[in-house]
Amino acid sequence: MRTILVVGAGQAGLHLAIGLLQNGYDVTVVSNRTPESIRDGRVMSGQAMFGTAQAHERALGLDLWSDSCPPIEGIELSVPAPGGGKAIGWAARLDTPARSVDQRVKMPAWLAEFERLGGKLVLHDATAADLEDYAAQYDLVLVAAGKGQIASLFERDPARSPYATPQRALAVTYVHGLAPRPEHSAVCFNLLPGVGEYFVFPALTHSGPCEIMVFEGAPGGPMDCWDDVRGPAEHLARSRRILEDFFPWEAERCAGIELTDANAVLTGRFAPTVRHPVAILPSGAPVLGVADVVVLNDPITGQGSNNAAKCAATYLEAILERGGQPFDAAWMRRTFDRFWTQAQHVTAWTNALLAPAEPHHLALLGTAGQVPAIASRFVNGFDDPADFSEWFMDAERAAAYLERVAA
Ligand SMILES: Cc1cc2nc3c(=O)[nH]c(=O)nc-3n(C[C@H](O)[C@H](O)[C@H](O)COP(=O)(O)OP(=O)(O)OC[C@H]3O[C@@H](n4cnc5c(N)ncnc54)[C@H](O)[C@@H]3O)c2cc1C
Repeated sequence: MRTILVVGAGQAGLHLAIGLLQNGYDVTVVSNRTPESIRDGRVMSGQAMFGTAQAHERALGLDLWSDSCPPIEGIELSVPAPGGGKAIGWAARLDTPARSVDQRVKMPAWLAEFERLGGKLVLHDATAADLEDYAAQYDLVLVAAGKGQIASLFERDPARSPYATPQRALAVTYVHGLAPRPEHSAVCFNLLPGVGEYFVFPALTHSGPCEIMVFEGAPGGPMDCWDDVRGPAEHLARSRRILEDFFPWEAERCAGIELTDANAVLTGRFAPTVRHPVAILPSGAPVLGVADVVVLNDPITGQGSNNAAKCAATYLEAILERGGQPFDAAWMRRTFDRFWTQAQHVTAWTNALLAPAEPHHLALLGTAGQVPAIASRFVNGFDDPADFSEWFMDAERAAAYLERVAA
């Protein structure tokens, strides 16, 4: 039986580990957190996942919350006008609803499933030296440690990483009592150039359905305002104040909000980074990076968990195809390249949205208010961002698309 070790019990690591167990591999997961510390700890993400990523989970029987998690039926885009009101305001439905299950709920349940299927869980904060031991003992070592320090073993790829510093100050607030949209549910995405973005959407947490508020402040701007916040109550108050100052229609929905729990808030910032997928250890043994370890995008487009599921599905397929042949460095690079054919579009689009909007982006997003086909295509691109390369990313293609739609 082939032996595989996965460092990291997160979205990608557990998805892959459970998929491998189901296919008869001997799998060990090394986690630096116990299931209890994940469950009782701080929120980690917004983790909204679109149709394709959910289908990958469903294929392994891991969609345990499809009935209890509220669906996110569409996406709404709003841009404030200088004198008040909205300069842009439209919504469109997703072909397949998105869902967000709090990772504090999901990962402990997946860990239990992993152990039920016979997987071995080792509680340990893996180091570079440990990787040497693992590589000597196992047929394949995968590093799915997210933003963990161990990711720095994988060399940054400057050609694929246009930003060397964080592009947004991030904050997350999980709440109960936020007034629903009167129409269908949605990710309400609000964007104020030069200040930042705010998005809010339904989710499932320990205490049932909730709403997740995500703040993306431009560095040094008025939404980069979390450093002096002391404690969850102040965090909630700051969340409200931002909405009152910049997105008043969203503030109106917040009259009755309260935090879901004492750990319902998060702040931080990181530089979006693509890394070389294979780290060669001092002994010469290769290890393969997974998901955020190798392709870390800013959360502005809500793609990280989606990427993690897609990466896990791609790697699982490649491992099964490999049969009994060695998992050498060349195979690892080819496996990553398969994932990168999709992930490159996510990274290019996400990095584009972090930059000041280009005229063709504004033309498309403005016209989408009058032309539902454009709004629908933009919204459904969140599930398959490769589509943006056909009509959104490039000025010439955008102009040709607008002409076609007008005709
Ligand atoms: C503010 C914010 C909002 C987000 N919103 C969304 C969203 O709406 N939609 C979306 O798709 N994505 C979103 N994401 C991103 C998403 O959460 C991540 O991209 C996704 O969880 C990455 O999965 P992963 O498996 O690579 O890493 P993770 O899920 O982070 O898992 C890594 C695991 O490895 C463990 N670990 C780390 N180092 C070690 C070590 N040395 N030894 C052992 N274990 C280790 C960690 O404790 C963790 O359990 C958001 C992220 C943030 C920060």
